[in-house]
Amino acid sequence: MREQRERVIFLADCQSFYASVEKVEHPQYKDRPVAVAGDPARRSGIILAACPIAKSYGVTTAERLGEALNKCPDLVIMRPRMQHYIDVSLMITQIYKEYTDLVEIFSIDEQFLDVSGSLRMFGDPTTMAQSIQQKVLKQTGVNVRVGISSNKMLSKIATDIWAKKNESGIFTLPKSDIETLLWPQPVNKMFGVGSRMTSHFLRLGMHTIGDIARTPLPRLKEQFRARFGKQSNIQAEVMWRTANGLDDSPVTPGTFNTAPKSVGHMITLHKDYIEMDHVNTILLELTEEVCRDCRRKGYMGSVISVSCMCSPYEDPTGFSRQMKMLDPTNNTNVVFEAAKTLFYRYWDTLPVRRIGLTLSNFASDQEYQLTLFEDQIKLRSLDKVTDKIKDRYGSAAIIRASSLTSSGQALERSQKIGGHYK
Ligand SMILES: [Mg+2]
Repeated sequence: MREQRERVIFLADCQSFYASVEKVEHPQYKDRPVAVAGDPARRSGIILAACPIAKSYGVTTAERLGEALNKCPDLVIMRPRMQHYIDVSLMITQIYKEYTDLVEIFSIDEQFLDVSGSLRMFGDPTTMAQSIQQKVLKQTGVNVRVGISSNKMLSKIATDIWAKKNESGIFTLPKSDIETLLWPQPVNKMFGVGSRMTSHFLRLGMHTIGDIARTPLPRLKEQFRARFGKQSNIQAEVMWRTANGLDDSPVTPGTFNTAPKSVGHMITLHKDYIEMDHVNTILLELTEEVCRDCRRKGYMGSVISVSCMCSPYEDPTGFSRQMKMLDPTNNTNVVFEAAKTLFYRYWDTLPVRRIGLTLSNFASDQEYQLTLFEDQIKLRSLDKVTDKIKDRYGSAAIIRASSLTSSGQALERSQKIGGHYK
């Protein structure tokens, strides 16, 4: 049997991406601490990116502007220009594509490159990574860090733990070295491990990534089941595979195996809704929840279903209808328009007590043509930034203006934890 050659995968990460782009274009702030914040006029705005100088004052991404200014009163605050960052990100993708066709966008500032097939043309991996760094720096002013390994997971880990911290911004983590390099690291440094998972591992007496890796998988699954229930098997396996550096997933957009059939939410109203404005507010909130879920999971749906139950409860009327949209999407505005179309086609103006919204017929949201659908990327990135902030601060952190009217329930709902609709 022929032995399969090891792949060479890069995870290229742009340092302090938004802030770097702004500094390049505002050279007067070259030596000043700079941050990009959601709403620079308000101390409650959120830091979206901070340059290395700002970080040296302790300013961190996703903290409130007020906190950042307490640490660093001289901080220069800039308003985000998403379209521009997306344009720069696409330029950087084009540079990567001079090195390999296999480029996968992981986020606006992180991309995977499978360079296995093109190494011969460019020399060894480190030389190639240096060449990429120089080219991106020269053309965009952005500093790129590169983690190198034989799969995506390990290259991501190589970037996060080492390449972001060292002088050269390049780090190679060979699979054969994970026992000596990765396993002594504390569990909270592992990709995908947040504070809840950290305390779970610590409670189990697992302090290092090696402690997880060396636990037999069936035993780890048992320990997860005892705490998180039956559904946690997959999570246990993901953790175990990560700790052992196992990942066969290819660097290619569009692979998708585990999509659920649909994502939906439902909301029961605390009183009858009869005005279109009020109904629209609820439809928008539902759309936002469903689309956010889809984006988080990486799905785009092409069929939308809307259901409605009208008063009175004893003898309810209502409808449940679906329609196909032009293209698969998880964009809030696009789905909202479709939801309204569908709802008003069938609503007979009776008082509404419950509304549900579902997206189905999924395709992976990685399946899009970069150069052809730039507008779509712009929308996607804005949605993602919104999601990130909501994940961090709860869904009340960003609420659409209509939700602040009396019919809006997002604010109220976000203050409870889960469970009151679905
Ligand atoms: Mg970055």
